[in-house]
Amino acid sequence: MKQTILTVIAIIACFGIASATSPVDYVNPLVGSQSSHALSAGNTYPAVAVPWGMNFWTPVTGEMGNGWTYTYQSNTLRGFKQTHQPSPWINDYGQFSIMATSGEPVFDQNKRASWFSHMAEEAKPYYYKVYLASHNIHAEMTVTSRAAMMRFTMGNEGRNNIVIDAMDGGSMISVDKTNRRITGYTTKNSGGVPRNFKNYFVIELDHDIENVCGVENGYNDTLKLDKTECTGNHAGVVLVLNADRGESVNLRMASSFISPEQAVLNLKELKDGTFDEVKERSKAEWNEVLGRVEVEDDNLDHLRTFYSCLYRSVLFPRSLYEIDAQGNVMHYSPYNGKVLPGYMFTDTGFWDTFRSLFPLLNLIYPSMNEKMQQGLANAYRESGFLPEWASPGHRDCMVGNNSASVVADAIIQGVTTQDQETLWEAVTHGANSVHPRVSSTGRIGWEYYNSLGYVPCDVGINESAARTLEYAYDDWCIYQMGKAMGKPESEISIYKDRAQNYRNLFDTETKLMRGKKKDGSFAENFNPFKWGGDFTEGNSWHYTWSVFHDPDGLINLMGGNSQFAAMLDSVMTMAPLYDDSYYGFTIHEIREMQISGFGQYAHGNQPIQHMLYLYNYCGQPWKTQYWVREVMNRLYKATPDGYCGDEDNGQTSAWYVFSALGFYPVCPGSGQYVMGAPYYNKVKIRLENGKKLQINAKDVSDTDRFVQQYQVNGKVHNLNTIDIATLKKGATIDATMGNTPASYQKGESPIAPKKKRTYLFGK
Ligand code: CA
Repeated sequence: MKQTILTVIAIIACFGIASATSPVDYVNPLVGSQSSHALSAGNTYPAVAVPWGMNFWTPVTGEMGNGWTYTYQSNTLRGFKQTHQPSPWINDYGQFSIMATSGEPVFDQNKRASWFSHMAEEAKPYYYKVYLASHNIHAEMTVTSRAAMMRFTMGNEGRNNIVIDAMDGGSMISVDKTNRRITGYTTKNSGGVPRNFKNYFVIELDHDIENVCGVENGYNDTLKLDKTECTGNHAGVVLVLNADRGESVNLRMASSFISPEQAVLNLKELKDGTFDEVKERSKAEWNEVLGRVEVEDDNLDHLRTFYSCLYRSVLFPRSLYEIDAQGNVMHYSPYNGKVLPGYMFTDTGFWDTFRSLFPLLNLIYPSMNEKMQQGLANAYRESGFLPEWASPGHRDCMVGNNSASVVADAIIQGVTTQDQETLWEAVTHGANSVHPRVSSTGRIGWEYYNSLGYVPCDVGINESAARTLEYAYDDWCIYQMGKAMGKPESEISIYKDRAQNYRNLFDTETKLMRGKKKDGSFAENFNPFKWGGDFTEGNSWHYTWSVFHDPDGLINLMGGNSQFAAMLDSVMTMAPLYDDSYYGFTIHEIREMQISGFGQYAHGNQPIQHMLYLYNYCGQPWKTQYWVREVMNRLYKATPDGYCGDEDNGQTSAWYVFSALGFYPVCPGSGQYVMGAPYYNKVKIRLENGKKLQINAKDVSDTDRFVQQYQVNGKVHNLNTIDIATLKKGATIDATMGNTPASYQKGESPIAPKKKRTYLFGK
């Protein structure tokens, strides 16, 4: 009997039946990878990583250096790349790749490429496995933040090779055959790095190296036998192994932006563990982070989508700091090239991520954002500016000065415990200057904005209306931050006044925002369907709602609640007309709006992602509840084509996470969320302070999607907003759901907390 039980246990263990499904098991890292230049289904790659890890690893289908690193529709793999890429448009830096081949040693990326199939592929956040069919090799990888392991199981007897590709632009590889150790560096980058930038790597093999062939000038260079020292524009080596059939070759690797010695130190993250031990530890790390949110739902697809989105929400901004031999937190500065103490994070664009990604961190992972805020203070000290788009240093990309939102929200929510004064200096400096070389850092056009109240459209500054609207919100954030820090009104009231600058672009005739000329007249030939021009990756119908901090003010400008609601309705019901003349071709964001079936509502890009929640301000919250669920159902799937546009470093995913909980941060810095409707029967969030936030919506469904009543901690909650502080104390939200809208009350607009009006539901 005993033996039988043991046998059964052994069988169960073998087939994995006994292990309960854990949060990370629901994640599909391939979501969003079925993308191209013309159409983005996320523009993501399967990041094999730990949460906020310094290095990610990904299989590579594209040519080395191509931002479209891994595309689901491809048939061949060229290697496995250590990557720091936030987006294909921004591309990568510090990357190098590894491949295993059989037969004659080859370095060329086309000749070494192998056919593969998704049927012989397993992608997890902490583990990736694939069959390299052309070489009869099973490849596996698993990771820590700064180290990784690969295991290649050779299917062919005899000559098998490990290819190390340090990329072009200046690289080095040195092979110590005796100690089976490879060291080197890559300098490959796409900008935003100091002159001395290097990513140093160390790789240790557990197998003898028979021969080494090397190149110094890339794929067209002839492989030279016994070339163990390669330094040139493009260094690469092929390690020839004499492996048995079925033999596994393990690689232990680490890297550092600081020094070769630090790279060796970073190997310690592997703790001398076996491949499987490292894999299990990395899996446990994911479950700790993803498991902070427990979702109960009997629809497996819902769970897969939710946890796949949560996975994307905890990758960026990535760590760019390392721990030295004494245990100190150190970083290589991507701003001044020095090695300095303290935290540093990078690879995020605040134009995207101020909206809901950073608010999500403040709710569920505040200790991480606390470190990120220290990193921002360091970025200011090292470069004189807060970043707006960092990868790894300042990049010229997008508009706005939304670092103010990211910094202010963290201070207002009590997340930031250090460097507050430095951050205050940073946001006020950034509001009144522009980076001398990176025009999207600080505020281009700040002189016009401060004197005229807007950035004119006829002074050679593009996308001027978008900039104005975002600067006005950013000013409101600075004002709120100053208030929270106890700054005197005399110092901060200027920002309160400037927060109203959005009014300067409102055209009463069309009830839309328009570009304005220096002389005070609106730009001629206004086409509200024109993307770009005075706006950024959107049209006037998208950007008119960028008054996060004062929806009441916008309602008044539009002529009241019913006018405002009608304008919102129009976005959802108009045909997806567009004018792409600013770009000269149909940019993918336009195409994604056109095909998604939501009229002018372009959820595939960021400017409009808060819009559906604005129905709460005009007394029609049921339309928020209706449309948000439609977007969740139709525009998010746990499949390779699962996003409706660029995912953008957690922003589009964090929208889903918040929306699934039943509330959304329309105005970061306000201390409030705006209510939607819960998507699941039950969600439990373990907050870092030990408190629990629970959201119950018994019998919620696509039919019963309308909130009849909210109770917070057992008391009826009639506001359409909820204080974040209430939730952080630990709270239970009970939503009663129904198939028709019910009476409800309008919440306070964040900028006018004393003004309270009540609107009843109607049909
Ligand atoms: Ca985007």
